[in-house]
This record gives sequence, C-alpha cells and structure tokens, in this order.
Amino acid sequence: MYIFKEKESLQKFLLKNQSNDSSLGYIPTMGALHEGHLRLMKEARLQNEVTLVSIFVNPTQFNEKKDLENYPIQVEEDIQKLIEADVTALYLPDVQQVYPEGTDNLELYDFGKLETILEGAYRAGHFQGVGQVLSRFLKLINPDRMYMGQKDYQQLLITRKLVNLLGLRVEIIGVPTKREKDGLAMSSRNALLSDEGRDKAKAIAESMQRIEEHKRTGFFKDAQTEALAYLEQLGFQVEYLSLAKADTLEPEQKFRDTKQVLLIAAWLEGVRLIDNILL
Ligand code: AMP
Repeated sequence: MYIFKEKESLQKFLLKNQSNDSSLGYIPTMGALHEGHLRLMKEARLQNEVTLVSIFVNPTQFNEKKDLENYPIQVEEDIQKLIEADVTALYLPDVQQVYPEGTDNLELYDFGKLETILEGAYRAGHFQGVGQVLSRFLKLINPDRMYMGQKDYQQLLITRKLVNLLGLRVEIIGVPTKREKDGLAMSSRNALLSDEGRDKAKAIAESMQRIEEHKRTGFFKDAQTEALAYLEQLGFQVEYLSLAKADTLEPEQKFRDTKQVLLIAAWLEGVRLIDNILL
C-alpha cells in the first residue's frame, strides 16, 4: 500500500492513475478504523480499480475541544487494517497540509435548513467543518466515487448538497451501517466507553427497533416517550430521538407510508453516540 503524507506525491500518483484510465474510489475517515469503515473499503474495491483512504482528524468539524483531544488515534493499527483490506493508497496529511492558511476565517457553505436541525442544532459549526475538509479533499483527489456511511445520515445528505454546490461530478455512495452482534452501531467512539457502558450502549439500537415495531400498530409519540424513559433510566442523556423524512430530514410527527428515518443522539459516560434506521 502506498502511503502519502504530502499533497505533491499524492498528486503524482493520482495523475498516473488518470492516464491509465483507472476508476478511483475514495473513502474519507478520521481513523481508529473498525469493521464499519472496512465495509466502505470493501464496497469501493468491488466498484473501482484504485481505492484511496484518507485518515485525518479534522479539527474544524469538532465543536468541542475536549472531543477533539479525546478522539482515538491509532495510525499503526489502521495501516495494518488497510493493508489487509487491500486498499491501494492512504493519504495521511497533517493539519498544515490541509489548511496551509490556518483554520480561522475559512469559507462557509449554504446548506440551508439541513444544517440547522438534529446534529446541526447540537453541534454548531460541525457541518461547516465537514464541508471545509471534504471540499479540499475532493478538489485534490477528484475521485469517481466517494463512499460514506449511512451511520452519519445527515452528513451523507450534507455531502450530497456540498457536491452540488461545488459542481463536482463525484458519485456519492451511501453504505449501510455495520453493527456489533448486539446491534450497537460500530463507531470509533465506542472504544471510549467502560465495559459497563459498552453493554448499556446496545439500548440505543434496541430502542429504535422497538419504535420501528410500533410502526404497524401504534403511534410514534407513544413509542418515542417509552423509548426516552427507558434510555434515561439507564443513564443516557438523549439530545434527540426524532422521526424525519428520509430525503430531506424534515421533522415528522407520525409514522407514514413514505420513506422515513429515525435518528438518535445520546450521551453515555461523556461519550456522544449517534445512530439511525430507515423505516
Ligand atoms: P469517521 O472516521 O467516523 O469520520 O467515519 C468515516 C466514514 O465511515 C463515514 O462515512 C462514516 O459514516 C463511516 N462509518 C462510521 N461508522 C460506520 C459503521 N458502523 N458502518 C458503516 N459506515 C460507518
């Protein structure tokens, strides 16, 4: 596997691929790789001749300094996993490479209402940070396809909007969430939980499943109230547990036959966990 820390050497590699007419699949990550990430890589390998992964803990998308400081970093293990996953190349830039002009006064994107709800309401500036880093990576790498997890559902919609705003031709592929055996969505942040917390965390997926079961027989509001009480009694602080239209994330108060998504964000042991399921 090639490892590039500098823009210039990455560009040379990309130019060579372009002249070979190889299709390029790109997977942006913040590292601390798990099987959820590896699923994106597998998908990319099936559809492209060349796969490129970036690992970059992007400071501009962290709205809390402590969250950034606590973010797990394990580059050596990550490199081993990427080799085993048969990824072609890794881009591993530092902050100076990505933001040579510094991280103050960066450009802003108009994501409209999508930026003000759910994650946007609780993590001020988060999606601007996502836009700032992805616009730089996409312009540099110019992939045919980019692979992103449905685990970060709102991020997936924001990214589609970003690509439209920038007029890029990259195809964005949303990949289903990989879960642990007990249903917990895989996340780099799960490693920050104690054993007890890790066991409790399965209640997030359980609660969403229970709400889904209500879809045929009951009301969303009742199911939501019951789930909130269950999670709070276990020690979660729930930020939102919401039903929304799957294509726009516009809030919904009732189950409908149209495509909907159920989304949750909750804190446990100082760790912020998010998940969602399509209904
Ligand atoms: P991150 O390193 O957390 O920024 O995630 C990098 C990419 O992996 C994002 O597109 C995530 O949505 C995706 N991802 C994270 N966890 C999972 C999971 N459990 N299943 C599928 N994709 C995931």
